Amino acid sequence: MSTVNSVLGPIETSDMGVTLSHEHVLITSAGIQTTFPEFVPRDEAISEGIRLFKDAYQGGLRTIFDLTTHDLGRDIGVIEAVSRGSGVNIIAATGTWRDIPRVFWTAESNEIAGLYVRELVEGIEGTGIKPGIIKVANDVGGVTPEGEIVLRAAARAHQKTGAPIYTHTWAPERVGDQQVKIFEDEGVDLNRVCVGHSNDTTDLDYLKGLLDKGVWIGMDRYHPVARPGMPDWRTRTETTKALIDAGYGDRLMLGHDAQVQLRIASKQAFAERMAQNPDKFLFISRNALPYLKEMGGTDADIKSVMVDNPRRFIEGAF
Ligand SMILES: [Zn+2]
Repeated sequence: MSTVNSVLGPIETSDMGVTLSHEHVLITSAGIQTTFPEFVPRDEAISEGIRLFKDAYQGGLRTIFDLTTHDLGRDIGVIEAVSRGSGVNIIAATGTWRDIPRVFWTAESNEIAGLYVRELVEGIEGTGIKPGIIKVANDVGGVTPEGEIVLRAAARAHQKTGAPIYTHTWAPERVGDQQVKIFEDEGVDLNRVCVGHSNDTTDLDYLKGLLDKGVWIGMDRYHPVARPGMPDWRTRTETTKALIDAGYGDRLMLGHDAQVQLRIASKQAFAERMAQNPDKFLFISRNALPYLKEMGGTDADIKSVMVDNPRRFIEGAF
């Protein structure tokens, strides 16, 4: 039997059920809630989060990985309240996203690894709530010097604690390859790494190359309206189907990279975004999975990507 730390305490991995591998309850920025709390409608984030995740629970969702780090304004109290109020298990993250604090730029990877380890072992900000995943991010332009410090820190925190690593990448520039190189250099077991945002590309050679290295990949951006120049949700699903057909169906995980929409954006932008995505955390199950079946995907394929793979990723099982 295997357990994982959810924000409400350890759960059996066999109870994870249908799992979305990359979501966010609330995104802001580091320090905003402390310094400018009036800018963040925190109570609204909790009530809207509970409403959306209750709906998602009704639709079959049981677990999400909330990959919100400190530099994305991670508010562990909000995440905990939404899990408690909705019934959806939430596995939180330590690590660092793209807004790497300037004080980390000249730090040693070991010092930063120590910070992640402390959260993984003792909990977040004195709450005792422990993350289950280490998140790291590299984007357009690839791995920067400060990005490399953080990647190596994630590798070392993983080796100390056994917590798996889930990355943010910029797939059009094959940034996953650069991350894998650094993890290999650190001696990380690539079976404990998921390279995320991999469905921002349709480059099957790149994706198969990553999978052949032994990582998992996150097909974890799903929005009803494609960003200019990016694959739309049907194309993203076709890429997933092509990888399943090529024999990689046991190495893929799906997610939306969605968040509870807050009135932080302008009123007009808020209204537009709300109108664009009424399905929110059920978009994949209501749209992508039916399309996958239409293309010949089986119930077993769907169970693999939605249930078994996230569980096996957490367990470290092949
Ligand atoms: Zn994200």
